Amino acid sequence: MKNFVTESAKKKKINLLDFDRKGLITFFVGIGEKSFRASQILKWIYQEDVTDFNQMTNLSKACRSYLIKNCAITPPEMLVEQVASDGTRKWAIEMSCGNRVETVFIPEEKRGTLCVSSQIGCALACTFCSTAKQGFNRNLSVSEIIGQLYVAQQRLGKETRITNVVIMGMGEPLLNFNNTVAAMNIMMDDFAYGLSKRRVTVSTSGIVPAMKRLNDVCDVSMAVSLHAANDELRDELVPVNQKYPLVELMDACREYSKTGPRKHITFEYVMLEGVNDSSDDARALIRLLKKVPSKINLIPFNPFSGSGYHCSSANTIAQFKDILYRAGIITTIRKTRGDDIDAACGQLIGKVKDKSRRHLKLQKMDQSHVA
Ligand code: SAH
Repeated sequence: MKNFVTESAKKKKINLLDFDRKGLITFFVGIGEKSFRASQILKWIYQEDVTDFNQMTNLSKACRSYLIKNCAITPPEMLVEQVASDGTRKWAIEMSCGNRVETVFIPEEKRGTLCVSSQIGCALACTFCSTAKQGFNRNLSVSEIIGQLYVAQQRLGKETRITNVVIMGMGEPLLNFNNTVAAMNIMMDDFAYGLSKRRVTVSTSGIVPAMKRLNDVCDVSMAVSLHAANDELRDELVPVNQKYPLVELMDACREYSKTGPRKHITFEYVMLEGVNDSSDDARALIRLLKKVPSKINLIPFNPFSGSGYHCSSANTIAQFKDILYRAGIITTIRKTRGDDIDAACGQLIGKVKDKSRRHLKLQKMDQSHVA
């Protein structure tokens, strides 16, 4: 039987959500258009919420028909929405081939923070994180990262603005460097979301070379998942520490704090009972951070089945905070939000078709336990 699918229908259209301003300029100049088309299209997409090229009236007719024929504005699809009793919302967002990531919106009195994922799953094997247990499939594209903000803002409507973005969902953003940077550029572009660089935070487990590169290309706030003040323990909790040990990490943090938009680095420290929560641990942390302008965010551990860890008691966390505070370090305790819908830190699991060998190994181990 004759195949009636035309060539043009078969040809995949260029998704304009995949480009930041620089990318759009290259694209438009490449098709013989002026570079200011980049600002015009950004404004239509992200500020006017228009996806129909015919309605983009300040583009020339020729430009519009080129875009209609060759391009599309295709955000990822939002599949499921859950709303927690505290107003936190979690969305499962379809990426491709049955993979899903999770995006969380945390409303507060004066701001609304969106927690965005950067990868499908995660290749780092932090022992206390449930995303890690899902294995890893692939990096998200620019359109899939910025698309989370796009669909979330559409869903929330104009009255509820997303004022802050943290790249703290599934995945290690600095291992998906170029796409994460391009997406953050769109977040901060005045013709798109126009968020200030203080309101965009990238959270990393400490990929030292990428931290060094980041400040050259994109000026955003940085959070570092520390969780231990000595290499022995950090090697175990955050295995990437074996590659980039604390001396190197602290050096990179010091450098970043000199030029980053904030004068300090935020260190995240998950409170694990009997593991990293003693007063000696607090004092070791003070010594470690002596030369780095720091703010510490203590995160009560969010349990998940089979983790083998317990959260430190409220008392222990308060004491830990007090020791740091008395040493002059600004310390906050992260409020656990959205835990009744598993939207809290480390609870995002999405649906990951794991491709990493690490996961196969884990599966084998599990099977051998069952056998
Ligand atoms: N890969 C990045 C971003 C994702 S994790 C990073 O490591 O920073 C976001 C934050 O949640 C990190 O600080 C992470 O250590 C923390 N986290 C992970 N699992 C957690 C859990 N079960 N309870 C509390 N915090 C957790």
